[in-house]
Amino acid sequence: MDRNIKEKKCNDFENQKTVMNIEEWHNVVNDKLGISGGTIYSSSGSTGNSKSIIYTDDVMNAAVRRTKEFISLTPLLSNCKIAILWGYGLFPPASFYNRALSEMGNIVYPFGSGRNFPSELKATKLGEIKPKVIIGMPSYILRICNILKEKKLLEKVSEKLEFIITGGEVLTTFYRKTLEEEFGVKVFDHYGMLQAPMIAGECSEGKMHISKEYKSEVLMSDSKISEMGRGILLLSSEKAWFPLELERLNVEDNVILSKDKCSCGYETPTIKIIGRSNLKYKVRGQLVDFDELITRLNVLGFENKYFVEVKDFNNELIFHISNEISKEKFKEEVNKIISFTYFVESHEKIEFLLTNTGKIKRIIIRNN
Ligand SMILES: [Zn+2]
Repeated sequence: MDRNIKEKKCNDFENQKTVMNIEEWHNVVNDKLGISGGTIYSSSGSTGNSKSIIYTDDVMNAAVRRTKEFISLTPLLSNCKIAILWGYGLFPPASFYNRALSEMGNIVYPFGSGRNFPSELKATKLGEIKPKVIIGMPSYILRICNILKEKKLLEKVSEKLEFIITGGEVLTTFYRKTLEEEFGVKVFDHYGMLQAPMIAGECSEGKMHISKEYKSEVLMSDSKISEMGRGILLLSSEKAWFPLELERLNVEDNVILSKDKCSCGYETPTIKIIGRSNLKYKVRGQLVDFDELITRLNVLGFENKYFVEVKDFNNELIFHISNEISKEKFKEEVNKIISFTYFVESHEKIEFLLTNTGKIKRIIIRNN
């Protein structure tokens, strides 16, 4: 890694190792690896702040290798039909899974998440192929599940299904329980598909194992760095971004890191994800977990029917909702999380701001 950057970023932590956030790391990567060519990916979080990063062939290959590592923690054998329900175009994780699973001898159906292949048609197709594994974002698999139920195809699709792999968003208890009950199979969650990328995968014991290619630590609330315990996950790796050495990437998620031996026999540390640390904002003295709020509202079917406006300058929180949904029902859910006075404005036609990948900006922060 570049000496200047290293020196500039030096801090008081024990052995003077750098801690970088994702954006800073992306800048280093784009600067140092961009010259060797690769695929640019622009991601956009719920806040709509876009982050671009270049994935070189070496980085892609390493991510495919880790995908295989996580798949090896599931009961998958080769020669299975697998439906991949995320990513349109060159969404990198779609490519990691396509390559990993086909190289392991499976037949992969890269159906994507809807833009190139309408969900209705996809549901019918799933009924025809009867996959052994379905891979996708929990919210999207749930949407497909509802379509399958309407079309009376759920039983047919579940017939040969052995398990589901989720990733790309927080797998809440609700999502896991609903998907496992509806499809009648176990869900294996994968974590950190884009940032590092491919950080951890669940084993048969339900523990989330960090890849053997990362050294993991946590940044505790007292700014100390620890080998285990609760804090923000930090990752270091010599392999993931070869030829660059990744040092203490702050992945902005709160976790509990454990080095206890897992009964599955796989010997890497495990994490329990507590939540995103970057979607929490202080409004009127209360720290609001917007990630949890958004998840709860989406689960109730309010997706694409609201956005939140946070007015920083006078500490106001306004929900803009479509008049198709009940204001009372909406407030009932919000009240479970927010205990201060907020506003809800109902609109006949709701004007959304979109991120550069076409997703709705759920949270709009205004500073003036
Ligand atoms: Zn395990």
